[in-house]
Amino acid sequence: MNAFPEWLDVAPWLERVRASGPADVEDALAAERPGLRELAALLSPAAAPYTERMAQRAQTLTRRHFGRTIALYAPLYLSNHCASGCAYCGFAADRQQPRRKLSFDEVEAELAALKRMGLEEILLLTGERTAEADFGYVRECVLIAAAHFALVTVEVFPMTVDEYRQLADAGCTGLTLYQETYDAERYAQVHRWGPKKDFLNRLEAPARALEAGLRLAGLGVLLGLADPVADALRLYRHAVELEKRYWRAGYSLSFPRLRPEVGGYHAAFEVDDAFLARLIFALRLCLPEAHLTLSTREAPRFRDGMAGVGVSRMSVASRTTVGGYDQAPAAIRNIASPGAEPAPCFAEASQGKPVPGASGTFTRSAPEKKRSDPSSMRMAEALVDETGQFEVHDRRGVDEFCATLRARGLEPVFKNWDAVYRVVGQ
Ligand code: SF4
Repeated sequence: MNAFPEWLDVAPWLERVRASGPADVEDALAAERPGLRELAALLSPAAAPYTERMAQRAQTLTRRHFGRTIALYAPLYLSNHCASGCAYCGFAADRQQPRRKLSFDEVEAELAALKRMGLEEILLLTGERTAEADFGYVRECVLIAAAHFALVTVEVFPMTVDEYRQLADAGCTGLTLYQETYDAERYAQVHRWGPKKDFLNRLEAPARALEAGLRLAGLGVLLGLADPVADALRLYRHAVELEKRYWRAGYSLSFPRLRPEVGGYHAAFEVDDAFLARLIFALRLCLPEAHLTLSTREAPRFRDGMAGVGVSRMSVASRTTVGGYDQAPAAIRNIASPGAEPAPCFAEASQGKPVPGASGTFTRSAPEKKRSDPSSMRMAEALVDETGQFEVHDRRGVDEFCATLRARGLEPVFKNWDAVYRVVGQ
């Protein structure tokens, strides 16, 4: 059995986070090529007063590497069958969900609907490997999607090198596989059963995919499961380790925050907008060439503020149900939505005694449990699409979102890649 890699140990760097002062933050902002030392300073509480300066530097770097473009994509959930028991997920096996997967005809119909919305980059999703949604099913869906879309990536289950090679041959360009949390102890707690419990198998999957010839790797952490500072440091180190070996690949980093789901799980660590913004700026400073991705989990105002200021890639008009685009309301497809802001983020004040996280910067927010307060449950039910994996916060349609980006001087990009270029270098 493989051992945990050395880079997962961030204890010395968490000590540096705790010890950093204003001089360390100034040094980090002045560094030519900031690295782990600088990231620790920029994530420390001492960096909070420097957020505006970090934003300015992040925006400069984003423009240098991506211009004013924002790459847009949409996820397509193929199946919600899942045998795993991830405590935070609306598709977990113990959730009361109607289970289904798209037939190949339905996949065609969903893709046609996404194409009509103008999208050219598509992310195909399933849960962990099941009899209903196995490798053969995913490969067939990739083949269908690759016939219509310029860029097809998958966010499915960890695969073998040979399976990733077959996906590449079918037209898949990359994978997204969030570790969720790099804290092995917390990982074991929240992944209660099922194949996703295998921490190392998941950790090593992006390397297998790049070894097999996929060209894009999306890494991420689900903020709220564990100490966000420790997870951010490890996320950075994971990207750097992969870059050393697979320097020709492209990378994107994501940092979704936990959202309401039908099971009522809530975050052990609450991450506010101020910290998330600083995390985005810090990662941009330390990884200037990587895409930083922000999904529709986040509120419109926050997404608008981050676009181009660190963030270079965004999902749009997302549905977290299986399918859902072909029959989607007009507001999701293209016509401007009525402008009603979704209900506020479902965060509650701590009811438990705070417990320090590893960085000493964050404290555990509340006892982890299913919500039992009836009013909370009603709110969760109102917020969560009953068949969705989690609640989407930004419900704007493609046209409305693109108009907002353009009004901010940004250029939404649907296609900056053509599958024909896959031949080069192979
Ligand atoms: S996160 Fe993925 S593996 Fe876990 S329960 Fe949800 S769909 Fe299944």
